[in-house]
Amino acid sequence: MADLISLGEARAAVLSAAEQGPLEEVALSAGLGRVLAEDVAAPFDVPPFDSSAMDGYAVVAGPGGELEIRGESRAGHPSAEPARPGIAVAISTGAPIPDGADAVVPVERTDPAGDGRVRVSASEPGANLRRAGEDLRRGQPAVPAGSLLGPAELGVLASLGRDRALCATRPRVALVVTGDELAEPGEPLEPGRIYSSNASALAAQAAQAGAEVNLRSRVPDDREATEAAIGAGLDSADVVLISGGVSVGPHDHVKPALQALGVQEHFWRVSLKPGKPTWFGKRGRTLVFGLPGNPVSAMVCFQLFVRPALRIFQGADPEAVRVSARLAEPWKANPARTEAVRCRVRTDERGLVAEPTGDQGSHRLSSMLGADGLALVPSAQDELAPGTDVVVELL
Ligand code: AMP
Ligand code: MG
Repeated sequence: MADLISLGEARAAVLSAAEQGPLEEVALSAGLGRVLAEDVAAPFDVPPFDSSAMDGYAVVAGPGGELEIRGESRAGHPSAEPARPGIAVAISTGAPIPDGADAVVPVERTDPAGDGRVRVSASEPGANLRRAGEDLRRGQPAVPAGSLLGPAELGVLASLGRDRALCATRPRVALVVTGDELAEPGEPLEPGRIYSSNASALAAQAAQAGAEVNLRSRVPDDREATEAAIGAGLDSADVVLISGGVSVGPHDHVKPALQALGVQEHFWRVSLKPGKPTWFGKRGRTLVFGLPGNPVSAMVCFQLFVRPALRIFQGADPEAVRVSARLAEPWKANPARTEAVRCRVRTDERGLVAEPTGDQGSHRLSSMLGADGLALVPSAQDELAPGTDVVVELL
């Protein structure tokens, strides 16, 4: 099948065609899942001042003994009173270390001595102190551009006083689902029809990849309707995802519609199972993916081709995490095409194990349930033995 390109070539074609999109300021409260577009460094030392790691007494480090308690440093309320030999300042966790003190004796290692006095045990300089800048020094890079903003990133940005961040805009995705046989979930199912699962699965994958689905249409297997829906997508989105109708059957209208709309073909047909009929092209800056209608194929091809493009649009690393794992069971490799095998990934005493999720028919969407990754098994004539190392792209 000389006209099929390899998974690697297809992926490379997508990576080189995809471009980064525009940027916008985003409030931190709306930042979850966005991709940072600026390198953020600490504008000051974090934490900003020396503080206590314990509730206790701030002292001049020494052999211990009975001290007079003068003043208190509470979180948010520094003490005006300095510590001196013979003087302890009561202190709580997170409170600024008073002048003169270089250690905190935790309350558990003290005894009240009555009359405003306390007996403290011995302490070393620096004991139970958190130093200014111990987390991040002023000027130190903190969160680099390209970071996906998750709870930790948002927390660190907030610790730097940021309430906004420059982020990539969300790529706008238009979803065009084709097929005479499709019914919407919630509608009654007439004979010969199936519910459209691709609209739900692909929209969710797009959202997880940081995109915004701004147009959804379902069209029958009709040339004009197909062209009109794809045309509307091209006019309003950064990425057009088309489900189904991209093969060579008499009712597959996607390719001629794309051609009529002036979308430049970059590839069609990949040596991949599932996903052979995948089509990819571009008009202007808009990327167009013709995904096979089979529900597993559509999801797999989203993961392998669309997700990297959406990541590049957002200035993030396009590569998903890949790990090496051992096959849990014998696997009859495809003699001609790379196979993306849905797997659960678990660990045993020797490392990661990839366990196929059962029958891999591309119409069996339930084989995606519980899948942690796609084992990318190269074509081979022979059956692969259990324990064979495979590369797994984590979902
Ligand atoms: P196609 O790529 O249009 O030839 O479709 C291939 C197979 O996928 C057929 O069995 C279709 O019924 C099925 N299919 C197409 N679109 C969807 C969809 N949106 N949801 C579920 N199955 C679909
Ligand atoms: Mg179809």
